[in-house]
Amino acid sequence: MTIDSDDWRIAKSWLKNRKNWRTNGPIIADFENNFAKYNGSKFAYSFMGGRVALSAAIYALNIKPYEEVIVPGYTCVVVPNAFRYEKIQVKYSDIELETYGLDFKSLVKLVTPKTKAILVHHLYGLVSRDYLKIIDFAKQNKILVIEDCAQSLGASLNRLKIGNLGDIAIYSFEQSKVITTILGGMVITNNSSFAARLKEFQERSPFPNEKKIENILWNIFSRYSYYKHPLSFLMRDITRLFSNKKEVVSTPEDEINGIIPDDYGCRMPPPLAAIGINQLNKLDYYNSRRKAGALKWKQWCIDNKYKTPLVIKGSEPIYLRFPVLVEKEKKTESNWAKETLNIELGKWFLTNIHPSDEKVDNCPNSNIAVSKCINFPSILPD
Ligand SMILES: *Cc1c(COP(=O)(O)O)cnc(C)c1O
Repeated sequence: MTIDSDDWRIAKSWLKNRKNWRTNGPIIADFENNFAKYNGSKFAYSFMGGRVALSAAIYALNIKPYEEVIVPGYTCVVVPNAFRYEKIQVKYSDIELETYGLDFKSLVKLVTPKTKAILVHHLYGLVSRDYLKIIDFAKQNKILVIEDCAQSLGASLNRLKIGNLGDIAIYSFEQSKVITTILGGMVITNNSSFAARLKEFQERSPFPNEKKIENILWNIFSRYSYYKHPLSFLMRDITRLFSNKKEVVSTPEDEINGIIPDDYGCRMPPPLAAIGINQLNKLDYYNSRRKAGALKWKQWCIDNKYKTPLVIKGSEPIYLRFPVLVEKEKKTESNWAKETLNIELGKWFLTNIHPSDEKVDNCPNSNIAVSKCINFPSILPD
């Protein structure tokens, strides 16, 4: 949880003055420029979610209806949805179990003359095992690569931040991600013609309505008071009393079922860009804490004879979470973690296409990850 009192101070000042909530001010460009600079990328455009950033990427790459894309069969439902909203055919490839990335061998089998793009992801803050192989293969076969870096902002390979080797990459600032604006996302590219189309997409995307922005700013406060406020034990009850109507849901029921929500496709408004700038300033600090936390879980794996996630040569993961494959029962009955380690166990991806119950064919490793992959929190209390 990267929301602190400084983020709340910023949110509070915006709540006091609503004048420029929905006008295109320089603060948006500041956030995008800072992000591009941090990431070593030429162009960055902000949106109201990683999923919206993906929709912008699909437009930028000019992927047409009935063309095919290959996506990992272990992902969030909003990823295939973004393609299906445009009537693009999604094919699921299996993953490998060392970094939970797209498995090169299974992906190659799915390529047809209609394959327009491959979506590679980097989960849990790791750098995917077959990253370079897939990039090379795609280049040779003139297939575009979209990188889903929603969980791995700041991770690098040979000192280059991930997201820069493919054609276009997306990032998320949803609540569980590396940094957060409660809802938010970014798309980057180093290609100026893709950038021109991203800009065009952003310019015709509306800002969210005032109520939504207010709810999000409110959530900055409730997250802060729940987790970080010095009197959080008191604040928890107080905020719960009047926060239920203001809860921000990342993926409403309709979206899980593939129905496009009314307010899909918004760009990021100035108050959230302001929070984003502040979050970005703290990114390296939080990522260094995550890397330190990961050492504890590496030792835990060694002591308990579990495999640690693979760190590919030249890569620096940021460990958004520390994933481990354990026995099925340790995932379904997770009390042991609270009892023996005093932590809330992460159980991400309870289905292949989380959180929908859509089934995927020929993805045995994805199924294993669904039933056996747990994750530990990497930011540990001081
Ligand atoms: C969170 C996430 C997304 C979607 O990002 P939103 O900001 O929630 O739209 C996409 N892909 C992965 C791997 C994610 O973890």
